[in-house]
Amino acid sequence: MPETLFIADVHLDERWPEISDGFLQLLATRARTADALYILGDLFEVWIGDDDPDPYYAQVQDAIRRLSDAGVTVFVQHGNRDFLLGNAFAKRTGATLLADRTVVDLYGTSVLLMHGDQLCTDDDEYQRFRLMARDPVWQAEVLAKSVDERRQIARYARSMSTESQRERAEDIGDVNMDAVASAMREAEVRHLIHGHTHRPGIHHDALGERIVIPDWRPEGSGLVRWTPDSHGIETWP
Ligand code: MN
Repeated sequence: MPETLFIADVHLDERWPEISDGFLQLLATRARTADALYILGDLFEVWIGDDDPDPYYAQVQDAIRRLSDAGVTVFVQHGNRDFLLGNAFAKRTGATLLADRTVVDLYGTSVLLMHGDQLCTDDDEYQRFRLMARDPVWQAEVLAKSVDERRQIARYARSMSTESQRERAEDIGDVNMDAVASAMREAEVRHLIHGHTHRPGIHHDALGERIVIPDWRPEGSGLVRWTPDSHGIETWP
């Protein structure tokens, strides 16, 4: 049975080896038989630029490359953590970077794919940050700094956030349903898949269907599976 897999919010970080292992295991086993693997944002907890020589990131990129080389198409969307993923990452991994709103055809069904942070329009402070962080001029200025300097900035940003462990749903806030409605209407779809909110679930309403991909935690992770006959959320591993 052909199938397409979706994951998001893996938040890969050396501090959580169970999650790294689970991700590498997914790439080496389950994902090998899929038509495609879509990674819809925040694969990495932090990404300071494609030129970061840290061996941890090299190992992850090599693993994605092995999956692409095995014939599985890998797509990556930016999240609110790894918005600096660029062309060098894509080239190294064989993955294709997707626009923030992408409509794909899944075995005859049009589906809108988003990370989901753009839908949290009630969080003014975050949306202001997003506007800045997605500005190519701001990004070029950041990327012009040395790797060490960028690491320091990332460390500082992390220390300023309220908690040093993983994000919880309460900290993120949920999507704004007006924002969901306009995104789905503009894209002319009845199906939306997104992550980010750490509130996994499948919602049906007048707009159609909205599937929220699970975030990854040391105690358990998940993915969305789509086949010609059915789709749904599964736990992993
Ligand atoms: Mn996110």
